[in-house]
Amino acid sequence: MKKDFKFYFAQFSSKCVYGLIKFVKLFKKSLNGSHYPGKIALKFDKDFLGKIEKPEKIICVTGTNGKTTTANMIIDALEKNGFEVLNNKLGSNIQAGIACALSTGATITGKTKYDIAVFEVDERSSIKVYPYIEPTIILCTNLFRDSMKRNAHPEFILDIINQGLEGNTTTKFVLNADDLISCQIAPENKNKVYFGMDALLTDTTECHNIVNDFANCPKCGSKLRYNYLKYHHIGNAFCPNCDFESPEAKYLGTNFDFNKMKYSMIETLKDGKKQTEYNLITDSVVNIYNQIATTACLKEFGLSDIEIKKAFDDYKLVESRYKEEDYNGLTIKTMLAKGQNAVACSRVFDYIKTDSGNKAVMLNLDDFYDAKTSSENICWLYDTDYELLNDPSIKQICIAGKRRMDHYMRCLIAGIPKEKITVCEYEEEEPALLNFNKIDKVFVLYDVYTIPMAMKVKEGIKEQVDIILEKLEKNHVKISGNNDKDLTSEETKK
Ligand SMILES: [Zn+2]
Repeated sequence: MKKDFKFYFAQFSSKCVYGLIKFVKLFKKSLNGSHYPGKIALKFDKDFLGKIEKPEKIICVTGTNGKTTTANMIIDALEKNGFEVLNNKLGSNIQAGIACALSTGATITGKTKYDIAVFEVDERSSIKVYPYIEPTIILCTNLFRDSMKRNAHPEFILDIINQGLEGNTTTKFVLNADDLISCQIAPENKNKVYFGMDALLTDTTECHNIVNDFANCPKCGSKLRYNYLKYHHIGNAFCPNCDFESPEAKYLGTNFDFNKMKYSMIETLKDGKKQTEYNLITDSVVNIYNQIATTACLKEFGLSDIEIKKAFDDYKLVESRYKEEDYNGLTIKTMLAKGQNAVACSRVFDYIKTDSGNKAVMLNLDDFYDAKTSSENICWLYDTDYELLNDPSIKQICIAGKRRMDHYMRCLIAGIPKEKITVCEYEEEEPALLNFNKIDKVFVLYDVYTIPMAMKVKEGIKEQVDIILEKLEKNHVKISGNNDKDLTSEETKK
């Protein structure tokens, strides 16, 4: 598409708005105008994305779960290796967010200042983005059912992505071999590589989750079987009655050593296989998939094993999504559990269940904070595996917020004993209700919109720990070391 007067006016306006926002931000730091310049550009020229000059290489990251984490990892890895990367990390992942990044990353006449861009792309925006941008690589982490009011069914989303990719023959796709839904992206395009994860000891061959969005063979309709299944429909599948099976992973994560935090990547080459050892940045299977996806994408981009290894040295996941802290012998883990997204919540519940020690869970998943657009539909609670929280190692569940009774009801249906559940109106009340006698760890769960609240709850827990320690000192109880269980001593019983 050629630049015309409409385009120049749009780019000029977008730049002016960007400058204005930057200026106002000097005085009002909390101003949120993250994709407004892009919105203006698109208002004046709806074909803005097609006309603006783009970096030579563009990586787009999409998928239901893990796209932000994965896009951030790719950006960090490239930057660690000296590349300057244009991205929409601070903006939004819809069309306006990408327009904003391209506009601010270009001159006033629309000439790009970057060679490389990494964009996180919302699945539903595919249809408004890909017809204008043919990325070098599209990485899809997975496709699951998501918030009912936005994304509903994964096949509906798959269809939207494929409509956006109609006629695309140049992009290379990096897809998840263990997710047969996203494997169906761009069926006409043969330029695809797959990544996957080898069997783990915790895998099964039957789905134990409420939701399985890919249970039957798309060719003959038979019930699929699994060589190994990690969760929901994620695993290595085959049809017992025809030749349908999971594609072979060119990049396969294997030999996971959670003590040394290492794993190996088996890469299939033209003339054999190669195995490379990498640092493991997390013990959560969901994030290991994100790490494997990142590695596969970077390899396809052209980074060497050494460059990728360097990227994962001392890598820390973004703290707003997960943080672990030890406070006087009590482990506090704050974790993002996206409300209205049954699969993301179930994954977090599974992580809590399988984590070691005795635990308490602060279940603060009140989607009411998504104020203007919040849905009254709570069916997602019944797609979420609350049953995973019905485990002997989970000693207490605290529920707060406007939807607390809905969560309480769901916990009871999951068979969680009434006496383990504490319900209160406000999240800030939870720390004082914790029974520290029984626990080594507290999980504070929160939604995308409730991060400040989660931090307040965490501070409240620390205050309670301090109060207990003070009481212990007064009672002349000897406190020694960080990991002894003085917090569980009889004297502290409330
Ligand atoms: Zn079949």
